[in-house]
Amino acid sequence: MDKLLLWHPYTQHGFGERIIHVSSASGAYIFLSDGGKLLDAISSWWVNIHGHSHPVIAEAIATQAKRLDHVMFAGFTHEPAVTLASLLIGGARDSGAGVSRVFYSDNGSTAVEVALKLAYQFHINGGERRRSRFLALRHAYHGDTFGAMAAGEPEGFHSVFRPLLPTVDFVNPGDLDALRALLRTRGGEYAAFIFEPLLQGAGGMRIYQKDFLKEAMDLCWADGILTIADEVFTGFYRTGKRFAFEHAGISPDMIVLSKGITGGFMPLGATLVSEDIYSAFYAEDMRLAFLHGHSYTANPIACAAAVASWGLLEDASCQQRIAKISEITAERTTSLCDSGLGMNARCFGTIGAVELKGGPDYFSAARRDIVDKATELGVLLRPLGKVIYAVPPFCVTDDEVNRIYDVMAELLA
Ligand code: PMP
Repeated sequence: MDKLLLWHPYTQHGFGERIIHVSSASGAYIFLSDGGKLLDAISSWWVNIHGHSHPVIAEAIATQAKRLDHVMFAGFTHEPAVTLASLLIGGARDSGAGVSRVFYSDNGSTAVEVALKLAYQFHINGGERRRSRFLALRHAYHGDTFGAMAAGEPEGFHSVFRPLLPTVDFVNPGDLDALRALLRTRGGEYAAFIFEPLLQGAGGMRIYQKDFLKEAMDLCWADGILTIADEVFTGFYRTGKRFAFEHAGISPDMIVLSKGITGGFMPLGATLVSEDIYSAFYAEDMRLAFLHGHSYTANPIACAAAVASWGLLEDASCQQRIAKISEITAERTTSLCDSGLGMNARCFGTIGAVELKGGPDYFSAARRDIVDKATELGVLLRPLGKVIYAVPPFCVTDDEVNRIYDVMAELLA
């Protein structure tokens, strides 16, 4: 029936790619209908930070579903949305950001879209009509909707849509001269600079320097350009700290969150903004309002899941696991490099990645073999181009983390 009725994301069905039937999932494992099981080394598209079907989140969802399932968020509010907002703002402020308001949406792309639209209208509301361009980094990935695609790597898999997209200028992470040159000619035309702080996920787990980011933000601010940290992947301790921007000691004007926010149970997005941004929309004039909202904005069940997930995340036992996973990841990625099997092995907190040796033609053919072989070995891995990486859920044991890297070494060999 799946073959007959469904169209899967990021899938070329013409390749005859195997679609695996899952019957249940628990902790770090996904159970298959054929009786097998897979160790989820990538937290199912990076969302299941506590592993699967965590009973505390499941219970919070069940309780919330029986109390209040959904109510439109224009003109209404509810306790889970407010509690979550106070946790997110409190956490972001603790981490050094000067944000004070939350605008909810329902996935990473929409949360990015909200940030870009807010940035554009912020300037319009302030009487600046020329700022219709954005700045972004090469190799970036911000999602699949139009604004988010526009800010992603221009020669990546979204290139077919480029003629339809808003105008974005790109600089290579680290290239301050290129940024300065763009700002000299067009500084007054940019609404915002959007970036994944220090680690670019879907672009291949690429790490860049914090000094570049700090300087780039200062240059942008000097030209009145807002800064947007896309923490959709890096947020919620993925890099070892609550948010990746914390490693750089920066305070972006907006922070975009999704993925791990509900522990992988429910779709939810949040765009956190500074009071200055909120104030630019605050007036007795509907034209200055932000006329944007999704049906499922601040869905109470999603917010309740996120509140429960936050509680688990901030607990000392989870923090200890994150530290231990990060430690093993650092050891194992270093030894992958030393063994000469892969190249450019790198890690950042709980994220570990290594590149295949070989030319580009080799990668596309090898990719499916790698996925199939990893599956055979009982581990869920999905390379990004030539990069094999692991982002395990924080519930994994030391043995399970080691198992993931053993399998990676075997695949590389
Ligand atoms: N931003 C980043 C940094 C991401 O990694 C992703 C998803 N991989 C997104 C945005 C888009 O999120 P979603 O898939 O929920 O739309």
